[in-house]
Amino acid sequence: MRATSFHLTTTKETPADAEIVSHQLMLRAGLTQKLGAGLYTWLPLGLRVLRNVEQAVRAEMDAIGAQELLMPAIQPAELWRESGRWSKYGPELLRLQDRHERDFCFGPTHEEVITDLVRREVRSYRQLPASYYQIQTKFRDETRPRFGVMRAREFVMKDAYSFHLDDASLDASYQAMREAYARIFQRLGLDFRAVRADTGAIGGSMSEEFHVLADSGEDEIAACSHCAYAANTELAASRPTSPDADAPLPASEAHTPGVQTVAEQADSLGLPLERIVKSVVVIADGEPVVVFIAGDDELNEAKLERALAADAIRLAEPDEAQRATGSPRGFIGPVGLPAGLRCVVDHRAAAITNFSSGANRADYHWINLNWGRDAELPPTADLRSVREGEACPDCDGTLTLTRGIEVGHIFKLGTGYSEAMEASVLDEQGREITMTMGCYGIGISRVVAAAIEQNHDERGIIWPQPLAPFHVALVTINGHKSQAVADAAETLYERLQQAGMAPFYDDRPARPGVKFADAELIGIPHRVVVAERGLEAGTLEYRDRRASDNEIIAFDDIIEHLRERMG
Ligand code: ATP
Ligand code: MG
Repeated sequence: MRATSFHLTTTKETPADAEIVSHQLMLRAGLTQKLGAGLYTWLPLGLRVLRNVEQAVRAEMDAIGAQELLMPAIQPAELWRESGRWSKYGPELLRLQDRHERDFCFGPTHEEVITDLVRREVRSYRQLPASYYQIQTKFRDETRPRFGVMRAREFVMKDAYSFHLDDASLDASYQAMREAYARIFQRLGLDFRAVRADTGAIGGSMSEEFHVLADSGEDEIAACSHCAYAANTELAASRPTSPDADAPLPASEAHTPGVQTVAEQADSLGLPLERIVKSVVVIADGEPVVVFIAGDDELNEAKLERALAADAIRLAEPDEAQRATGSPRGFIGPVGLPAGLRCVVDHRAAAITNFSSGANRADYHWINLNWGRDAELPPTADLRSVREGEACPDCDGTLTLTRGIEVGHIFKLGTGYSEAMEASVLDEQGREITMTMGCYGIGISRVVAAAIEQNHDERGIIWPQPLAPFHVALVTINGHKSQAVADAAETLYERLQQAGMAPFYDDRPARPGVKFADAELIGIPHRVVVAERGLEAGTLEYRDRRASDNEIIAFDDIIEHLRERMG
């Protein structure tokens, strides 16, 4: 490609509303342009990178025998009514009507459509197992679209679905898919980790996420220092230490005027935080619930959502909490709450003896409370977030916390969709068997941003070779003045093309410094400079995007040199 015939729109200014480096660099390098909240145009440069991700994904999907198809983005509501998700899927689902006032949605995912397809096309066990995938545009009306294409509303996803006669077959395909995912992210040169994940709204029995490790990641991962245990902290378990169980002491009320926070409570009573059980009031699907957790623990919303089997949870507003419990803010506790008010307690908080809690009246807290004696023990569940350094649930190692960007997600779905939508096949004996399903996503457009988070410096993007929009930047010095330089560059440009090396020949009449800065900003991994002085000696200057010095290479050796560098 010649720069003079390519749409290049780089800028030095860092866009004000771009918080993370990938978003800043994608806008500065002119990979994408914002159209509206969570809506992005992929400019020619960006599209080349997006296509590279797609290509790696296609190659690995094809290699495990998944078949590519393409389903409509607009989906009839009837299918979603059949699966039960029309009413369950919240405001993230973009609903629309056609001219006949029939309901549709813009697909956020395609379980319904593929299940409908397969129930019509696949009738015999002989056609199973079968896996299908597509690379297609999704829409999710995210509450907070941000970080550019990282969390967009419209984005490109690879979604795959597998269909099976039994669980053993699903296990095998899931495993193959898992390995294919690992190869995809390896191939793209990304530092990633597969972790156990929440099965969330989609349902199913087993699920793992693939995370690109980066400090800016929205997710947190707990990984064992010793064994293979790794999980999203939405789900991660640990074996935390707790204070020893003591013989119960007589409970009493303490006067604690003005105490509002757990820290103030600990201070005024001279107790460690781990002897306090704090009360958090949440609204789960519209109903108030009081959650008890240890004073030094953090409530984990994803765990709570699962424990309560709730679709949506939020913290109660102060007046809602007061109405539900009859207690003033800061003084809520388990003793004497209104009958019928739903409560739940974290395992660790349930094990604390002689603990302190609010007394459900202004300016008083209990001390030396014990579950069972002073307050009925509510249902228990794991509701706390694990902390760095806690013991691994599976071995004697300890957990480390890192941040990650979820780029892929694989699920064993089971029969949830196929049962609801009556997708069955006839087995060898002619019996109707409900198919078992798996589903597997990769955020194609998110991968581009995640790769930048991991590969950049102060000058711009540093593409891993397989993602690079161009492999070699070809820059001339005084190319418009020296015919020899211009001719040599043309020859080289041709040779690079013939070698399949995707050159970017910067033939603009600009200063070399401008061309170097652009090549660095847009992340081209290799740079070759043609200058008059070098040509006289029969040499070129080569520089790796990560290096700070030039290498002098003989003109006739450059292709071979590049080939070696590209591996
Ligand atoms: P998240 O927790 O980040 O919202 P999700 O669990 O909703 O993701 P899935 O339904 O598993 O995501 O979708 C498959 C993949 O699609 C994700 O692993 C992610 O890489 C990508 N993805 C999901 N939502 C978005 C989005 N809003 N913008 C870009 N990519 C997304
Ligand atoms: Mg999501």
